[in-house]
Amino acid sequence: MGQGKQELVIPVPGIFSSRETDWGLESVSHYPILAVTTGILIQLVIKTDKNSQPRILKCLLSDPGFQMSSLEFLLGKHQDVKVVEDTKASKDFLADKKNKPFSFLNYEEVNDEEKENIKTLVAYLDEQKKEFTQQTEEIKEEDLCTICYANQISAIFAPCGHQSCKSCIRQQMMSKKECFFCKVVVTSVKDFQGQVILTNPGAGNKLPHGHKH
Ligand SMILES: [Zn+2]
Ligand SMILES: [Zn+2]
Repeated sequence: MGQGKQELVIPVPGIFSSRETDWGLESVSHYPILAVTTGILIQLVIKTDKNSQPRILKCLLSDPGFQMSSLEFLLGKHQDVKVVEDTKASKDFLADKKNKPFSFLNYEEVNDEEKENIKTLVAYLDEQKKEFTQQTEEIKEEDLCTICYANQISAIFAPCGHQSCKSCIRQQMMSKKECFFCKVVVTSVKDFQGQVILTNPGAGNKLPHGHKH
């Protein structure tokens, strides 16, 4: 390796790592581990049986470390080769096959069928990721607490069945103890697992409409 090495910058996102990693030219030696990882992904995502596929996809796509750029990297994308100084040394360096941006497509060891599988994997996950992101965004908006618009709805009141986030109803139960929406006296509050999280001990002798002799 000549002086050219210092003149090249290749920023590369990490594979399944949420932090940005500068692999630099070492990526060439990552071929064996990438080959194994990619092979596993193809088995899990593309060649798996249809019953387990949704679960696998959900696990994969909801992982905060999952980034499409990491997968596209396998096909030579997101590898910005910057030649800082356009010298003969840096040109020679780039001309050397070993120093080209990483891509499975450049490997003779990878046969055509395997290359197709990698392309299918990347395209399929890209499509799934978009759909998944859209779905989770829709759900989030619907599930937002209408009192604070900050937290997700997570508590259900008895007897009326109205809902809010836990922190809003917790605060409410420290003062008025009535439903935000219908003003009925809340007797207890459950979370979405059915667990009682708040009770109103005074509710027994303070019936909703105040009929007491
Ligand atoms: Zn709230
Ligand atoms: Zn209510």
